[in-house]
Amino acid sequence: MWIDTHCHLDASEFGGASLAMADQAAQAGVSGIVVPAVHVNNFEAVIELSRQRPACYFALGIHPMYVPTSKESDLQVLREKIASLMGQGNASSRLVAIGEIGLDYFVPALTQSPLREKQEFFYTEQLKIARDFGLPVLLHVRRSQDIILKHLRRIEVVGGIAHAFNGSQQQAQHFIKLGFKLGFGGAMTFSRALQIRRLATELPLESIVLETDAPDIAPSWIADGVNAPSQLPQIGTVLAELRGLSLAQTAAATTANALAVMPGMHCG
Ligand code: ZN
Repeated sequence: MWIDTHCHLDASEFGGASLAMADQAAQAGVSGIVVPAVHVNNFEAVIELSRQRPACYFALGIHPMYVPTSKESDLQVLREKIASLMGQGNASSRLVAIGEIGLDYFVPALTQSPLREKQEFFYTEQLKIARDFGLPVLLHVRRSQDIILKHLRRIEVVGGIAHAFNGSQQQAQHFIKLGFKLGFGGAMTFSRALQIRRLATELPLESIVLETDAPDIAPSWIADGVNAPSQLPQIGTVLAELRGLSLAQTAAATTANALAVMPGMHCG
């Protein structure tokens, strides 16, 4: 049993085949797929996927790359949506986190004023929502590890996942200390990704979760195709090889880690 902790299953790249992709993943042994929202416009899409397929869970949030097209009032929409879903109780909600949120200082336009400050505002306001509702966060961290960490020390959330982790060993330790798991996926499958492979090999096993980030970050064996959640077990075999573990041990450990950091998941 595997869990894909980060998959944009509602993305247009899937051409309407999202449910078929979820079914293929289930056949491949993926029992849980966390689908993060990126903008208020796709909140309903990710919620609907969780209604359609028992393996699908969702997170709601505004992704840093969608901050430019978001309004401040969208933060209130998010807060109200979370309040209403949580009011319905666990049985009716498959909400497991706030996400995808974070800071992207890789895209040049987003690093300049006023978008740089707007990103930071959306990130910190969403951390407060996560804190207020006791929800973990799914973080997008690109060239922004230290400032992401700075705000996490100030606004105390219960934990979460630094998705597609690509920081240093020391930054990884800071995230772990704050209750975070680190997400590894397609990038780890490239032999030239030395730093990411070293982290995947050396970090404590209990701090690692797996993800596809589909349709993005395709693993090395997908030449020019679109990534899919059904790839997760094969990505897991790479982690198993790096760490000298059996496939069963790797699946069990990464699944337990995902469930520990997102207690709203109840699969398996
Ligand atoms: Zn993402």
